[in-house]
Amino acid sequence: MSKRDYYKVLDVPRNAAEAEIKKAYRRLAMKYHPDRNPNDAEAEAKFKEAKEAYEVLCDPQKRAAYDQHGHAGVEAINRGGGRGGFGPGDAFSDIFGDVFGDIFGTARRGGRSQVFRGADLRYELELDLDQAVFGHTVEIEVPKLTECEACHGTGAAKGTSPVTCETCDGTGQVRISQGFFQLQQTCPRCRGAGTIVRNPCDKCLGQGRVRKTRTLQVKVPPGVDTGDRIRLAGEGEAGRNGGPPGDLYVEVQVREHPIFERDGAHLSCEVPISFATAALGGTVEVPTLDGEVTIKIPAETQSGRVFRLRDKGVRPVRGGARGDLFCRVVVETPVSLSAEQKELIRKLDESLKGNAGKHAPREKGFFEGVKRFFSSNRT
Ligand SMILES: [Zn+2]
Ligand SMILES: [Zn+2]
Repeated sequence: MSKRDYYKVLDVPRNAAEAEIKKAYRRLAMKYHPDRNPNDAEAEAKFKEAKEAYEVLCDPQKRAAYDQHGHAGVEAINRGGGRGGFGPGDAFSDIFGDVFGDIFGTARRGGRSQVFRGADLRYELELDLDQAVFGHTVEIEVPKLTECEACHGTGAAKGTSPVTCETCDGTGQVRISQGFFQLQQTCPRCRGAGTIVRNPCDKCLGQGRVRKTRTLQVKVPPGVDTGDRIRLAGEGEAGRNGGPPGDLYVEVQVREHPIFERDGAHLSCEVPISFATAALGGTVEVPTLDGEVTIKIPAETQSGRVFRLRDKGVRPVRGGARGDLFCRVVVETPVSLSAEQKELIRKLDESLKGNAGKHAPREKGFFEGVKRFFSSNRT
């Protein structure tokens, strides 16, 4: 199969500067990387093609050979023991290490040593319901690896600096021959950094990072719920070898509330009412997140009836209308009765029994249902 022109692959003019070539490759690599296009053979081929073109055009010697002799010129250099031969398994971090080093602001001269992004951290934040509903600012203490201030993350003692690793010549990678194959591996001596610390910083023992507890302010937006995550960019652990820090994810956990139960934007609660209020009607004070509200209980209200208070729920964090509050009334059975009170209830009960279930619609319906159940099962 004949190869396409490298300049056409990257869609850059023949006199393109190195920065332009990098930019073009970065765009294609992001688009066609196998990690982003799993099981897509066409994308993988495009990715390989772009990578190959980039490897040649960003290398002044190979680019000159290609300009003069085309693909054959590059092959001649590769046979001569130059770099080359990249497989499809190049990880995303390789691209970041190679091409994005300039974005991350690392000062690497000549070498291809790797930068390592710091780890992401997770913090579980417990909130009361009202804090979650109305928003809240909390201070949290996060123990994490931060850049050592004494050596500015280099790991080298004051007055010294890291030296180029001799094992890998500062590339961070070593090549191992196994029969016909050449394997590229992270340098075991410098662990990919490309540099070695001869005189370690005594604050971080040459690690470049120290464990420290940082106090952070977290602004919790109103409406968050259990499981929501707030991302604090760059507040994770410090990177290695000049890599960027990770992120901190604050995961919200809303504590149970003694009165309210939450279901997304809606809230619900139980409201106890007396037998007299249920029978004769009346009013009852109901707590809401915005203060007490009076609801009217109509006469002959049964236990379990639900009253809906519009817009007394939660405004969702991702936008949308505020939810409602559902109040379920529960008729409370009186307790600790005196002899006189018991006698009054007995009398009331006697007077209610007379009228063939007229005063107890559910009881009547229930017993009729039971009767039907048994008679239909018998036939
Ligand atoms: Zn240090
Ligand atoms: Zn090394």
